[in-house]
Amino acid sequence: MTPIRRQYLKIKHSYPDALVLFRLGDFYETFDDDARAASQDLEITLTSRSMGKNLKVPMAGVPAHALESYLARLIKKGHKVAICEQLTLPTSSRALVERDVVRVVTPGTLVETGLLEQKANNYLAAVISEGGLSGLAYADITTGQFSATQLPTGQLALELERISPAEVLVPDAADSPVPLPQSLENQAQVTPLSGLSFEFQPAQDALLDHYGILSLESFGCSHLPLAVRAAGAIIDYLGRTYKTAKPPLSPLATYSTADYMTLDAQTVRNLELFQAGRWGSSSLTLLATLDQTRTPMGARLLRRWLGQPLLDLEALERRLASVQLFVDDAFLRGAVSATLSRISDLERISSRLNTGNVHPRELLALKEGIEASAETAQRLTGIDYAGQYLSQQLVPLPDVAALIAHAVAAEPTGNPGEGGVINPGFSDDLDRLKAMASDSRRFIAGLEQQEKERTGIRNLKIGFNHVFGYYIEISKSNQSQVPDDYIRRQTLANGERYIIPQLKEYEAQVLSAREQIEQLEVDLYRRLCRQLSESLEAINRLAHGIAQVDVFVALAEVAVRNRYVRPDINNGNEISIKDGRHPVVEQVLETGGYVPNDVYLSTDDARVIVLTGPNMAGKSTFIRQVAVITLMAQIGSFVPAAATTIGLTDRIFSRVGLQDDLTTGQSTFMVEMVETAAILNQATPRSLVVLDEIGRGTSTYDGLSIARAVIEHLHNDPRLSCKCLFATHYHELTELAQTLPGVRNFNVAVVEEGNDVVFLHRIVPGGADRSYGVHVARLAGLPPAVISRAWEVLGDLETPGPAQTSARKSRRPTPPPAQQLPLLDPTQPVIEEILAVDVANLTPLEAINKLYELQQKVRGSADAP
Ligand code: ADP
Ligand code: MG
Repeated sequence: MTPIRRQYLKIKHSYPDALVLFRLGDFYETFDDDARAASQDLEITLTSRSMGKNLKVPMAGVPAHALESYLARLIKKGHKVAICEQLTLPTSSRALVERDVVRVVTPGTLVETGLLEQKANNYLAAVISEGGLSGLAYADITTGQFSATQLPTGQLALELERISPAEVLVPDAADSPVPLPQSLENQAQVTPLSGLSFEFQPAQDALLDHYGILSLESFGCSHLPLAVRAAGAIIDYLGRTYKTAKPPLSPLATYSTADYMTLDAQTVRNLELFQAGRWGSSSLTLLATLDQTRTPMGARLLRRWLGQPLLDLEALERRLASVQLFVDDAFLRGAVSATLSRISDLERISSRLNTGNVHPRELLALKEGIEASAETAQRLTGIDYAGQYLSQQLVPLPDVAALIAHAVAAEPTGNPGEGGVINPGFSDDLDRLKAMASDSRRFIAGLEQQEKERTGIRNLKIGFNHVFGYYIEISKSNQSQVPDDYIRRQTLANGERYIIPQLKEYEAQVLSAREQIEQLEVDLYRRLCRQLSESLEAINRLAHGIAQVDVFVALAEVAVRNRYVRPDINNGNEISIKDGRHPVVEQVLETGGYVPNDVYLSTDDARVIVLTGPNMAGKSTFIRQVAVITLMAQIGSFVPAAATTIGLTDRIFSRVGLQDDLTTGQSTFMVEMVETAAILNQATPRSLVVLDEIGRGTSTYDGLSIARAVIEHLHNDPRLSCKCLFATHYHELTELAQTLPGVRNFNVAVVEEGNDVVFLHRIVPGGADRSYGVHVARLAGLPPAVISRAWEVLGDLETPGPAQTSARKSRRPTPPPAQQLPLLDPTQPVIEEILAVDVANLTPLEAINKLYELQQKVRGSADAP
């Protein structure tokens, strides 16, 4: 076995569950089973390498410079990847280069910019459950955000779904299984970690040690042992994955889920906060509508706010006041917005400072960002209370900016070590070396002229190559004039190359200077990054302040552009919206095309609205619009309405009947009922429940019965008595208003014009008396014959018995005269007649007669003017 093989096996032994990328010169190589997996997942050639006597080992490699793109693919395929680097420079002696794993890459510990979504956080979470309680911690190591909470285990799945981590750490011990939501298992990598990592004492020690503090008191989690254990597991895991420089984390933020509005995954999906579906294109989400942010930090913060609406009036008023500030002052909004555009991802750049893995241009971006932040702070000072508050969040860091300006060249070229990164004047040593190198180069250039004169050879020239270094080249025809002190080095087809001692002396100076420059500049750059990373916390605070300003400006921008108003939020029992609009749907329609509507819900009287109306009338849009406006108000945004009063809402439930849930594989109706059960068990009088066509997933009578029972329960149970909007095409449900005092009937106005219905999208009091299903079918383009037959069947169903004919007549719209609707098919009555023929009871003769009669009719109508 070769020494390299032995080295490899030793390293691989420590990382049995990871795919080891082993650095060999310019390549990362994989061996054995790792090579087979890599060759398959990366579509690279599987070769083999001799690594000892009669030992051929499967091998597959990728070029070192292309690591990132290959990493991305391996991580996506579910691999953990251990990166093994060369720790010493290869020397001419045959000693083995030292190698070790510097980092284990997993989905939750990525820092590679190219592998991350810019506008979303990438979370690593850890959970532990015990005795009905759970601890949950999560961190985004690219931004330093680190949070922990303790909550009833029953709420864990909800919170995990909100966070949507890329990776979840769980204790591997089987005696305390952690209930993970099903949806998560498809998208997050679950990493079992030794139970030890989750034990209280080691966890607490890990935290204290990481932050260099003596007590967890200041983090607010000293009384939450499970939160501490989860947070400790994260620190422990980062130590295992980052062998050299551990990524920095901001001070642990302890929070309580009770401080935020609860939004379950179904609600998030149905309200299309982050992902569209109902209205097609992926840009049609609430997030996309509101996201006018200018910085990645702002975009990520807005996304977090949308997932965590507030329950704290004071905090909401503060946010609203900040939005108001930028709504009122268009000049300020424009100016701040322009300044924000100059700020790049301060969080993600600064988080890489202590590893030195930052490009010089990124340092300049950091400087620019700090300067632009200072300008922003300046603009906001002294404007009003809100402006003052915001400007105080932006503590300027002139020293950091000045240090970068002093150290980094304004137009850095190449990587650190190539001599073009550090500014002249920053380091005397570096300047001296550079001067020496350029002096020597100048001397060599001067030597050419000097030697031409001395030898009288006009085409003598000095050149450089990597094998011989500097040389003097003289063409064949001039060989006779070559002086004695010239030493021949190389013969070419039409000339000879020589050296002289003087040349070599300066060459040595140039080369040694270059080597020293390389070392010194790398060193200076590393030290610079380390020095800057001492200001990491301050930079992160600044970044967070900028994120807030960015979100407020964005919300103001949207509010002005789309004519939103400031909501009135209070602790009351009402939700009252005047001229409300759906913020996303209105974007799709032409300006003014959206029909605004009012709503009034109150726990005291009108707590359930039963909304009826034909398909396509606008029921679903309306009930969602109420939910979305409530949610927007509680993130501190202005809302699409003329006026609103929102009583603080602790939860929004949104459910849609008849929706396939392919991801979980449960039958539609089952899912519908499971979700409905969850509402009936969890809603409070402060909740808003939005039910769309619940009960549709089964037969009519079942569905109707369930829908009715659900409304009755929501209405009657004093523990619930929540606000509820129930959209249904079962117009029978309107009867409920007669017996239940808190139920109000509304319907979506339509006007009938002959055979047509026109949707007015206006919500009016009262129930719809029928479904207009046949009208809608006609609009949808079902053939006239089918429509005609449907009217007949409908008539029969609605009034069985002898009164049939008259009932049918009353229900069915009278066919309009032909002149009015020239497009109406003239053969229409004939088709109806054909359909009416009872073929089974027709004699052949009767059939022929009938056929003749029909033919005459068709001829007659065809001849008519
Ligand atoms: P329903 O649930 O009653 O079947 P939807 O809510 O799905 O109807 O609405 C159908 C379509 O009607 C929407 O996609 C939208 O284009 C349009 N629409 C709904 N509400 C309005 C409104 N208030 N103003 C204008 N168009 C609307
Ligand atoms: Mg609908």
